[in-house]
Amino acid sequence: MNDIMNLFSLNGKNAVVTGANTGLGQGICVALAAAGAHVFGVARRSCDETAAKIAAEGGQFTEVRADLSDFAAIDSILEQVHAHADRIDILVNNAGIIKRCDAIDVTPENWDAVDFLNEKMVFFLSQAVAKQWVADKKGGKIINIASMLSFQGGIRVPAYTSSKSAVMGMTKALANEWAKYGINVNAIAPGYMATNNTNQLRQDEDRSEEILARIPAGRWGTPADVGGAAIFLASDAAAYVNGYTLAVDGGWLAR
Ligand code: NAP
Repeated sequence: MNDIMNLFSLNGKNAVVTGANTGLGQGICVALAAAGAHVFGVARRSCDETAAKIAAEGGQFTEVRADLSDFAAIDSILEQVHAHADRIDILVNNAGIIKRCDAIDVTPENWDAVDFLNEKMVFFLSQAVAKQWVADKKGGKIINIASMLSFQGGIRVPAYTSSKSAVMGMTKALANEWAKYGINVNAIAPGYMATNNTNQLRQDEDRSEEILARIPAGRWGTPADVGGAAIFLASDAAAYVNGYTLAVDGGWLAR
């Protein structure tokens, strides 16, 4: 490999990815492992499918069981990872939920569930890992998963839009404070991707057609589509990229 391509290598790095059992999280795990990282996949259920995909390509994967709807998950994740790895180098805050309902009908419970996982846990897991990085002075990479709804309003998902707008804001705020410690905080804003998150949307014929017609690339995205951006932002190639939210959207925002 020539020198410039070495910048993208994740050999010897330990990467923690939340929501690793399926969807975009699985795609990110597979990509980071293919680039050389030992991936620690956090999920509340089995990651067998992700583990098998990574094993098939000779990569390293360790499952970390945790339910991120409980604040205690943070200590548990760190403990489980540190049983196998001396340090975390990369954190990808991918786990997230969406609850579709008219704004007029949103309940406090619905709001809190989305806000807790999509925003509060992203902040406090990042803080817990950053505390280790500030102490050991070796820096690290945080990649948050934002959304088109970090930029736009969306329809029937007000709590989700608020949480993902917060993720983009938080990405900038943390980058401002932590860049001086060699910590790069950035985000990926996926466009409309074919995962569980969009099942309901893709089953609604009118909305589904409307969305597809607006995507310049002419197709929904896939978990593999976010892999390259994740490798880049996790790597030394992104050493001077701070606080940026990179859209991987088939051109949706350019429209
Ligand atoms: P997904 O298939 O529904 O994946 C969501 C992941 O989050 C799953 O692994 C899920 O685990 C996990 N998760 C949910 N609640 C959890 C909890 N309490 N504890 C631990 N893990 C939990 O959807 P996805 O599209 O891959 O979503 C991944 C991220 O991308 C999310 O942040 C989403 O908002 C974002 N995103 C998606 C799209 C899209 O079009 N698909 C677009 C923009 C942004 P379970 O399988 O156990 O539920």
